[in-house]
Amino acid sequence: MNPFQYSKPDSVQNAVHLAGPASRFIAGGTNLLDLMKENVTRPEHLIDITGLPLREVTETADGGLLIGALVSNADLAWHPLIEQRYPLLSQAILAGASPQLRNMASTGGNLLQRTRCYYFYDANVPCNKREPGSGCPAREGLNRIHAILGASAQCVATHPSDMCVALAALEAVVHVQGRGGARTIAFADFHRLPGETPERDNQLADDELITAIELPAAGFANHSHYLKVRDRASYAFALVSVAAALDMNGPVIRQARLVLGGVAHKPWRDQGVEDWLVGKAPSRETFSAAADALLQDAKPLEHNAFKVKLAHRAIVRALGDAAQGGQTR
Ligand SMILES: Cc1cc2nc3c(=O)[nH]c(=O)nc-3n(C[C@H](O)[C@H](O)[C@H](O)COP(=O)(O)OP(=O)(O)OC[C@H]3O[C@@H](n4cnc5c(N)ncnc54)[C@H](O)[C@@H]3O)c2cc1C
Repeated sequence: MNPFQYSKPDSVQNAVHLAGPASRFIAGGTNLLDLMKENVTRPEHLIDITGLPLREVTETADGGLLIGALVSNADLAWHPLIEQRYPLLSQAILAGASPQLRNMASTGGNLLQRTRCYYFYDANVPCNKREPGSGCPAREGLNRIHAILGASAQCVATHPSDMCVALAALEAVVHVQGRGGARTIAFADFHRLPGETPERDNQLADDELITAIELPAAGFANHSHYLKVRDRASYAFALVSVAAALDMNGPVIRQARLVLGGVAHKPWRDQGVEDWLVGKAPSRETFSAAADALLQDAKPLEHNAFKVKLAHRAIVRALGDAAQGGQTR
């Protein structure tokens, strides 16, 4: 590990004033410390944010919730208001990592965890995300876990979070604070596709701190399901995951949300497909047609063509489970 300066500010203002291009905020440390030990990230300054007052879950005036950035993944998944109103989010969090990791991992850190691409993690090989312009060995190499949607010539990495797939479906809003003030970012705009600049995962500036995640009132509690397909039954990242949420008007769909994880550089959502589901009655044929549409632009690599069929089946199953009232964890 490389030498670094360490600070522990006691306010959000002080934290953002310390931040810059060579610094990193550290929360649970479950991703950042691994990256530092593997020499993938070499911050000169660690700004420990665990002393900041960002651990509350509060109700908002319009019926939603504001989740502090330091609320642990475990506390969030088991929070009574999340379990009752946003079971999709609770399910997604509990599908990830392990109990010990979820106790340490923070809400803000989960959004900013980095890809699990093998080449990104190996500091001895080129990687455009780690060293811009060095190349992408994954394109022609071991690419079983990589993207089938939204990739670029420079990068085929996927975003590994489960929680973010549910947050995208729930249309969460990210609250951030920088030296220039506070702003909010719609979840759909928060993460980026790789394009020509795969080193940038999201829209945050160097001095910006995530302070909270806001959930709108609509939690789709009666008809939602998070389905994660992975190589092992637990403690493995998603090959494909699906967050499916429906609002039913009697026998037909009034509103639909459908987001894929494990297939792209960000949670993958197509509002055209969701709109197409409106007014339709739930059926295997309808959900299969939605899956066809969501995956129509998939461009698999040599070793991950299986993900297209897997995602198709997962979408049909997740939507079907959501229509029937979801499933218990
Ligand atoms: C073995 C293992 C298995 C895992 N399996 C899964 C899985 O199946 N599914 C899944 O979704 N995740 C999984 N994870 C990832 C885990 O969920 C993340 O490591 C965790 O959520 C990161 O949170 P943290 O607080 O520890 O972040 P840290 O490691 O502290 O930080 C991560 C990044 O976020 C930045 N950061 C943190 N907080 C803020 C903030 N408030 N504002 C701005 N920047 C911030 C840091 O600078 C850093 O760049 C796994 C991790 C491990 C180690």
